[in-house]
Amino acid sequence: MKLEKLSVKEFLSRARSGDIDVEDFTEHVLDNTKSIQKKYSPFITIVDKIQHPKKKGKLFGLPISVKDNICTKGIQTTAGSRVLEGYIPPFSATSVENAIEEGSVIIGKTAMDEFGFGTFSVNCAYGVPKNPLDSERSCGGSSGGASCITSDADFPHVALAESTGGSISCPAAFTGTVGLTPTYGLVSRWGLVDYANSLDKIGCIGKEVYDVALSLSIIAGNDPKDSTSLNVPKQDYTKFLKKDIRGMKIGVPKEYFGYVDDKIVKVVWDAIKKLEDLGATYKEVSLPHTKYALPSYYIIAVSEASTNLAKYAGMRYGLQQELKGNFDEYFSSVRSNGFGEEAKRRIILGTFARMAGYRDAYYLKALKVRTKMIDDFKKAFKQFDVLAAPTMPVVAPRFDEIEKLSPIENYMMDILTVAPNLAGIPMVSVPAGKVNGLPVGLHLMGDHLQEGRILQVASAFEKAG
Ligand code: GLN
Repeated sequence: MKLEKLSVKEFLSRARSGDIDVEDFTEHVLDNTKSIQKKYSPFITIVDKIQHPKKKGKLFGLPISVKDNICTKGIQTTAGSRVLEGYIPPFSATSVENAIEEGSVIIGKTAMDEFGFGTFSVNCAYGVPKNPLDSERSCGGSSGGASCITSDADFPHVALAESTGGSISCPAAFTGTVGLTPTYGLVSRWGLVDYANSLDKIGCIGKEVYDVALSLSIIAGNDPKDSTSLNVPKQDYTKFLKKDIRGMKIGVPKEYFGYVDDKIVKVVWDAIKKLEDLGATYKEVSLPHTKYALPSYYIIAVSEASTNLAKYAGMRYGLQQELKGNFDEYFSSVRSNGFGEEAKRRIILGTFARMAGYRDAYYLKALKVRTKMIDDFKKAFKQFDVLAAPTMPVVAPRFDEIEKLSPIENYMMDILTVAPNLAGIPMVSVPAGKVNGLPVGLHLMGDHLQEGRILQVASAFEKAG
């Protein structure tokens, strides 16, 4: 069978009608996956054999990739860290279970910055994924493998990914794909390897808005196994894609343009004008606490991360060594060998921020600022249906440029994505145009549980071409 560039929608209808032989198809998928792996390394693990679809469900036969911090039963899950090398979960995350229940098939586990600590997928223990549009450049992070395979796959596919502070939007923007981060709590975190529990969200990356809307309809839903899971009914998000956007009110947060490359600003304003042509209205709005977003994000994220990483001590999961010395010596040795440089930096920073004497000055203050930022968004959403901004301040950088960045300069790249992630609101990055041949993302943000609205705008924009 010849691999065609089928859309997910077309594939699913042909697979369900029997027009496509799903088993035959998956063989070709695996061959194509292996050849992409040779060129761009999007995977940490590729499955030996794709399982048969479990049911003739809504995702019958659809190949999915899973970010390596989402547990998959029987398939190694390392979260991109040496400390979890060889860990084979005895269970799958609820989101993965939901996708499998609807007939999707896993092709592999995608590369990522260790535990999600990064913006460019260069903090990787198992190889750095490369941007298929220019292999000298990053495909974004931390869900870099997910965006890489989505952008280059010749076959219909959706990537399950995760965002703490921008790890779905950033890689989608850098590779010209669509990245959807849902409201905090809409998709169960059960089976996700924690980075920062109050921020982590499982979402997805696809080639088209339809792909992420459909996937969200499957992976969202209340899960008694996750106490932060929201109790809201499941719904079909694809129904929003049929609606036009006449009368929709779009807010343009002015603080989100200050740090951005001029050429990107132009592409994003052109995109906003296009939304106006489609019948929406727009107005500038201020989110005054934006300037505190980065420091408060990095304090909260590393504080939570440093407690989460305490469990990797070479006893229960992953990396183990010969038992030598006292407890402290053994733990230090395993942790020194198992964690990469960025993970160590964050453990030290996070431990510092939580220490008696500093807790009030850093961690508790950051939590207060977070509340202020949520208020900014809540006020804006009283006036507007959706907020529109650039996703990233730059286009995909070259690896030699990334190498020169200091840790702080690196963290600054998250300046546009951390605030909506702190607020736990849904966001989608859609391709808006190009600068020097490289994709630029338009970031659409909505109020809590307004996934339908941002997808509606994203789809209208996509259709307008
Ligand atoms: N770049 C951000 C960080 O390093 C976000 C990462 C993520 O969302 N996992 O924390």
